[in-house]
Amino acid sequence: MITQGHEASGCIAELGPGVRGWSVGDRVIPAAGRPCLECRDCARGDFAHCLQVRIKAFAYDGAWAE
Ligand SMILES: [Zn+2]
Repeated sequence: MITQGHEASGCIAELGPGVRGWSVGDRVIPAAGRPCLECRDCARGDFAHCLQVRIKAFAYDGAWAE
């Protein structure tokens, strides 16, 4: 069973070591999908044009998870 919720938003509560460019309290919106990392476009680093993008809440758990 896959947890629903392909649209999510939140605030950064904590930063890991070495994280730059973000601050606690920053508002964020995660991407609604992930590139496959296997297609020809991903192979050349063009993840925005992935031919087999995997959509959150369909291919893997979404934002309704705790
Ligand atoms: Zn791809």
